[in-house]
Amino acid sequence: MRITLASMPWQALESPSLPIALLRSACRREGLEVPSGYHGGIHWCEYLMERTDGELGVPQYTDIAENGLFDEIGDWIFAGNLYGADFGVEAFREYARGRTIDLELAFEMRELTAGYLEEAYSAVMNTAPDIVGFTTTFMQNVPSLALARMIKERHPDVTIVFGGGNCDGAMGPALHRNFEFIDLVVSGEAEIAFPELIRRLHAGSDLTPVAGLSWRDGAELRANPPARGPVQPDQLVVPDYDDWFELLETSPVAEHIEPQLIIETSRGCWWGEKHQCTFCGLNGSLMKFRAKTPEQAIDEISTLVEKHQVLDVITVDNIIDNGYFSTVLPEIEKLGWDVRIHYETKSNLTREHIARFKGAGVAHVQPGIESLVSPVLKLMDKGVAGIRNVRTLRDCESASLTVSWNWLYGFPGERLSDYLPVLEQLDRLHHLQPPANAARILIERFSPYFNDSALGFNELRPAQQYKYVYNLPEKSLEDMVYLFDAEQRGLSEQEISGLKEAIERWIEHYQDSSLEVSGDDELLWISDRRVGREPADHEIRGRELVALYGELEHGRTTGGLRKIRDREGFGITDGELDAWLSELDARGLVFVEHGHYLALATHSVPVKLETRRA
Ligand code: SF4
Repeated sequence: MRITLASMPWQALESPSLPIALLRSACRREGLEVPSGYHGGIHWCEYLMERTDGELGVPQYTDIAENGLFDEIGDWIFAGNLYGADFGVEAFREYARGRTIDLELAFEMRELTAGYLEEAYSAVMNTAPDIVGFTTTFMQNVPSLALARMIKERHPDVTIVFGGGNCDGAMGPALHRNFEFIDLVVSGEAEIAFPELIRRLHAGSDLTPVAGLSWRDGAELRANPPARGPVQPDQLVVPDYDDWFELLETSPVAEHIEPQLIIETSRGCWWGEKHQCTFCGLNGSLMKFRAKTPEQAIDEISTLVEKHQVLDVITVDNIIDNGYFSTVLPEIEKLGWDVRIHYETKSNLTREHIARFKGAGVAHVQPGIESLVSPVLKLMDKGVAGIRNVRTLRDCESASLTVSWNWLYGFPGERLSDYLPVLEQLDRLHHLQPPANAARILIERFSPYFNDSALGFNELRPAQQYKYVYNLPEKSLEDMVYLFDAEQRGLSEQEISGLKEAIERWIEHYQDSSLEVSGDDELLWISDRRVGREPADHEIRGRELVALYGELEHGRTTGGLRKIRDREGFGITDGELDAWLSELDARGLVFVEHGHYLALATHSVPVKLETRRA
């Protein structure tokens, strides 16, 4: 059986589709024909470049792919092909009013989709497939549906299969129910289920045993139960990206991108297994954490880097396995390669963790900081205090480790009074990496806020964006979509405006700000060049104060410092200690939270990229 797997726009241009690559390998392992890949993101971008003489291309594609997600712009751009040219136009205009949406770009692209889909149709059908599988995540749904319908209408004999993140849990059967031209939907992990499905289709045998499969038994809709357990690490395959790299060799898109390898070293989240963050729906129906063995992970990274000669490695794990700090990362360091790895991690990083990251070539981390306000972090069940997050920001800055984070608000129970002490100190942090923005949380399917109305959100309804994307009644959308609207909770937009303005200033000032400490056991110099403050140089003189300053780098209370003083036999009195801490506070050299003082100066100042500026 000939199979073609399609990953439609808006897959990131720099990186291949992991689901296609995994299923190619999984089919090969099972002795099945290896599916062809149709990489729609690259082809759509090529089409844009060609049809607009380069006026539209990689930057515009990337703008929609990266910034259009929560407004469903990418889906809307293709929606006219499902429902007619006028569908959703007025509703989208209405939605865009007062928002920073580039309407002109969206409309210009929308005009071009019909022609592109014809080309996509020809490219897919040229592979003479018996089965066309669509892997769909986030904004890939409507582009996939549009092409799937064309294929089914013109070739009813071709079997259309959907799978991917947009098919997880109840969403898979709902997609199947709402779109008759989809023959089959695989919900959940597909490495085992997909080859099993292909074997059964080939043999014409019963589909009932295929885990997580939605199918039609005559006129009856059937949805098989999910697999009994998650796919185990030793059942995972090494992704096969060969066809994507071959495509890139002849694509004009290649000139404009730096290819990245996508690597998966674990699935699920070890933190979320016990304390799922209240807003997080990321792991869908499978939170159970499963990491590849260190040998598997190292082998996979080194095999793929060597094979494709690509040094930018993006791990798609939601959270690094803590064991990797002493196993995988040191081994990667030993390879001595000039790799640039991205990892997501828990935010309570130690200096040792950061050193391991740096040694292994991890250049960019996403530590899930989300806020610096401890009571709000508690509402999220993040298991970390605001001051600890500041410490991570400081130590990553010292180590030139790039950090990405967003500030989330809108949590039921949050109070302005919780924010104020932090807000008053934000200008002390201008030398540390700022959040990209402050955003109200969205209600995601699978999150505790979605599952448990007692946490504060009730009367959920499909997010309003879906109205201009799907011509379906709200009831039909309820099981099919990922984002939901609810009554606003927590701070009002007016109350949060102070934070937003402070973050804008932070972003603006970061580039030219520094607060650096240097010196020895007897004398420290702190050079304060944070924008928005008078430049100043401070001294911390004497062995005792230098040692106590070192303690403040861990975050200490006055009581804690006194104990250390007594243990070390330092002569500083209570009054002198209090006065010293007050002075550090007055100079903005510490971050203070609930009686804890954290020294803010970094031990070096990294080269700061211009792009960090707002
Ligand atoms: S937000 Fe991150 S740490 Fe929290 S449950 Fe989700 S994946 Fe895990």
